[in-house]
Amino acid sequence: MEDSHNATTTAIACDLYGHCQISDQIPREIPKPDVHIITSGGQRIPAHRVILASVSPVLGNIIDRPRKHRSSERIIPILGVPCDAVVALVRFIYSSRCNEDELAKFGIHLLALSHVYLVPHLKQRCARAVGQQLTIENVVDVLQLARLCDAPDLYLKCMKFVSSHFKAVEKTEGWKFMQNHDPYLELEILQFIDEAESRKKRTRRHREEQCLYMELSVAMDCLEHICSEGCTSVGPYDVQPNKKRGPCSKFSTCQGLQHLIKHFLACTNRVNGGCSRCKRMWQLLRLHSSMCEQLDSCKVPLCRQFKLKMQQEKKGDDALWRLLVRKVVSARVMSSLNLPKRKKGATEGLNTVPSD
Ligand SMILES: [Zn+2]
Ligand SMILES: [Zn+2]
Ligand SMILES: [Zn+2]
Repeated sequence: MEDSHNATTTAIACDLYGHCQISDQIPREIPKPDVHIITSGGQRIPAHRVILASVSPVLGNIIDRPRKHRSSERIIPILGVPCDAVVALVRFIYSSRCNEDELAKFGIHLLALSHVYLVPHLKQRCARAVGQQLTIENVVDVLQLARLCDAPDLYLKCMKFVSSHFKAVEKTEGWKFMQNHDPYLELEILQFIDEAESRKKRTRRHREEQCLYMELSVAMDCLEHICSEGCTSVGPYDVQPNKKRGPCSKFSTCQGLQHLIKHFLACTNRVNGGCSRCKRMWQLLRLHSSMCEQLDSCKVPLCRQFKLKMQQEKKGDDALWRLLVRKVVSARVMSSLNLPKRKKGATEGLNTVPSD
């Protein structure tokens, strides 16, 4: 009896502690187990007090609890989870290893065990593994477990998963059970989804704004280019038209701007008459003036006049306008970092038709 018991113990011990080499490279005779872990299925897993306690302070405390009889054997019951999950826990304690199969099969149990017995390395690995196995069906359960086990990364992952599959998750048994038993968690999830939505909206709005500033920055480039070098149909008064001029590198914007300039020069309604196109041109010229750092050499119409007006009025450009200018200036800086500069040669001496 004694012999057969020892044989089983040794077999399990070899399986469990096979990886365990106590000193460098030299496997030693394994000392006799001095404690047994008992699982739900009644399996007894022999183990060593020192090793268990060195990895898990909680197991250490359980072992050191005073016993009824000094002679009675030390036993640790780990119940309520599959036997093999407990075996995997003990194997991890001895070898710091846990294979993918075990994580796939018992990830959830091992997460709970590693949390209860304070084995942080195993807990991290389980949280990662369980996070990779999220499904519509299990996500609510895993979310609850992540919250119970204080696993913030896994919790966040579950929240994001629920948030992006809400319509389907809402129909699962897990969700309905949670609604009935944990209304606070339901509230937490709904709040998260709400915040995620507004985060998305904010990002979209930001992107749209950036796009607008970028367009304005390109328009500023084109305005300067039209007023200094001239483009296909509009150029400065002192540059001779050259019929061979081809479209410039930002022609889609430049062409629109040239039409706008021609309109601005010819329109009889003007800004004060309520012409929206003229107003737009007026704002572009004002924006240019706010950004322009050339003093007398600038060839953009009204640049100096706007500058003078702003100086006279002092607070003439309000905070919103200054913000707009700053954003366009930074968009311009960004685009000059990202894109190669427009080739000077491509637009040199190519003027065609003067402004009409
Ligand atoms: Zn152009
Ligand atoms: Zn007009
Ligand atoms: Zn200027």
